[in-house]
Amino acid sequence: MTHALTTATAANTTDAEPAIVFDRVGVTYGRGRKTTVALADFNLRVAAGETVALLGPSGSGKSTALKALAGFVRPSMGSVRLSGRDVTHLSPAKRGIGVVVQSYALFPHMRVHDNVAFGLKSHRVPRNEIDARVTEALDMVGMGAYAKRLPRELSGGQQQRVAIARALAIRPKVLLLDEPLAALDAQLRQSMLGELQQLRKALPDTAMLYVTHDQAEALALADRIAVMRDARLVDIDTARKLWQTPSTDFTASFLGGANLLPCTVNHVSGTAALVTVGEHTLRAEAPAPGVGRPDWVPNAEARLCVRPHTIGICALTERDALRGTVTAAVWKGASTRLHLEVAGIPGELTADVLGHTELEVGSFVGVRFPDPAGVLIPPGIGTDAAAGESEVRA
Ligand code: ADP
Ligand code: MG
Repeated sequence: MTHALTTATAANTTDAEPAIVFDRVGVTYGRGRKTTVALADFNLRVAAGETVALLGPSGSGKSTALKALAGFVRPSMGSVRLSGRDVTHLSPAKRGIGVVVQSYALFPHMRVHDNVAFGLKSHRVPRNEIDARVTEALDMVGMGAYAKRLPRELSGGQQQRVAIARALAIRPKVLLLDEPLAALDAQLRQSMLGELQQLRKALPDTAMLYVTHDQAEALALADRIAVMRDARLVDIDTARKLWQTPSTDFTASFLGGANLLPCTVNHVSGTAALVTVGEHTLRAEAPAPGVGRPDWVPNAEARLCVRPHTIGICALTERDALRGTVTAAVWKGASTRLHLEVAGIPGELTADVLGHTELEVGSFVGVRFPDPAGVLIPPGIGTDAAAGESEVRA
């Protein structure tokens, strides 16, 4: 994926309006008693050239958001705009959006060339231009040599490249990708992720909305990540900010995995705090107050988010080591995930240590928190069902 795609249509729009706007969009499926609210009060803006990942568990409304923008479902409330133009009631074909879905959705009886040309014909691109546009799009995804093949003569990864080429052929200013790598095996997913990064660079003016339930894809591709849960957007920020200072338990767990330890704030000075966790006093980062984030005050209840990879395992005899008991050890190849009971800390702790450890279930180890031990997360917001969510997910 190398050639830059010249977007002939990109110039003649207003720069002031974001490429994509969701304005209080609601989508409800079904009628009568069997209704599902799949999207509620959804607001999002994506600038030209920006990639936003919609990240969330299955059923959280990610695909519905994409479909509302593409025109495949009709919002029951609110509006969607493309570069300032309200397209809420426009047919999908007239929106000029490129869409790539998980299942490739190629026409099985059509050769690669014709699959890619299909959208161009319906967009009334002049006949004599079609071949050049098809070649350009196929070259972008490294599939130029496969134009005469049928989809069944291609691997899954190749089919997905063709599906991407088909979306690019119309030179869209907005590209929507719905779990495009989910059907591929792990190794292929990795290399396709690299190719998508290159493609991103080759399309500097295109706004991308990338739906995924995989945090690694979101971190690799997105400028900003919008976290979804139960039909709602619960958090949005740059990947780095969401990772470093998540404002909800849910974001902390879903993005990176986290130990979420109930704690009481003792003392705050600037962005440094002392907190009590069980029988221990630990130093913590206290992010500056902001939207959805309180001013930390003494005696406030909070949660301390401790990332599993930051917890150290050492000899029991070392200074400051807490006494831990291994309750489970799962080798994952590059790392081992330890489940620990730690004296004076309520609940179970999860630690990721490098490589393979010989630690057996039941053995005693020294456990060391980093300093500061983690970042404070306010209680309440987005934590209504946090009990079931608060264990580590990574
Ligand atoms: P995601 O893409 O995050 O997995 P979806 O947007 O596909 O989530 O679905 C959100 C919710 O809407 C889910 O509860 C799902 O079961 C429901 N849903 C999706 N499509 C339909 C449909 N066509 N009819 C009824 N319910 C639907
Ligand atoms: Mg989906």
